[in-house]
Amino acid sequence: MRPGMSKIFNQPLQLHLMNISLFTVPDIPLIHEGDDIAMIICERFDLHDRDIVVIVSTIVAKAEGRIVELSDIVPSDRALAIAERNDGDPRLVQMVLDESREILLESPFLLVETENGNVCVNAGIDGSNIDGDRIVLLPEDPDRSAKRIREEIFALTARTVSVIITDTNGRAFRDGQTGVAIGISGIAPTRDWRGRCDLFGKVLEVANEAVVDEIAGAANLLFGEGGDGTPVVVVRGLDCYAEHEGLGSIHFPRSEDVIRDAIARASASAYKMT
Ligand code: GDP
Ligand code: MN
Ligand code: MN
Repeated sequence: MRPGMSKIFNQPLQLHLMNISLFTVPDIPLIHEGDDIAMIICERFDLHDRDIVVIVSTIVAKAEGRIVELSDIVPSDRALAIAERNDGDPRLVQMVLDESREILLESPFLLVETENGNVCVNAGIDGSNIDGDRIVLLPEDPDRSAKRIREEIFALTARTVSVIITDTNGRAFRDGQTGVAIGISGIAPTRDWRGRCDLFGKVLEVANEAVVDEIAGAANLLFGEGGDGTPVVVVRGLDCYAEHEGLGSIHFPRSEDVIRDAIARASASAYKMT
């Protein structure tokens, strides 16, 4: 086969190179309640149209004042019981219960659905990257926060960007955590391949790529988890802009969520046994 020919179709290769760039936004200060995240970003980075601005939930939450002193929380009997069983802090458990609309798993850790439909451990509440005996909750409505920041960026710069707010989550079945999108604006949550063809002309029936989580994962490579102080990443070169708000359809409807069903059945029978 001649170089430059596709192995499969014996046709000329598309020889354009694909390329995505990711930039950290430099010199972001420690964020406090009332800080203007959009302004802080725009002052430090020259945004282009169709950039994707990826922001860690921790700084959005801090700016929104979603910080709680552990010593201010009075745990209920239920929180005390769960904490004892899980060897955790009853005040944190209480906060997780308060932030959740459904508990999927109580032990050995609290797996919950937050008010916005995100399923995660401990309602995404985190004691890291905050000073003292304080904890950071997730933003109250991350989709709304993403929309607001996107609109503020437009007001400041006249640039049309997408915004993704992320958290770091563990996954079922695999060790290690990755970035996930918990709030989006100006981008669709998935890229639907269904109806398109594979290399051999077969029609794809299932593939629906979770692009916002992939972008969150890539950005998380630059965020890190520790004291890097790099909570904002700009992704350039991915043409993902869409007039779309919110994660919405990324959460399975209940009737299709087989894993959740299985967890519910397993924990119900575990309760019966104890
Ligand atoms: P999460 O993934 O939303 O839970 O956020 P992390 O706590 O993992 O932090 C991700 C990144 O944001 C790390 O680089 C942190 O150092 C950084 N970070 C967190 N809070 C702040 C802040 O107030 N200012 C700055 N500059 N960086 C922060
Ligand atoms: Mn977190
Ligand atoms: Mn993180």
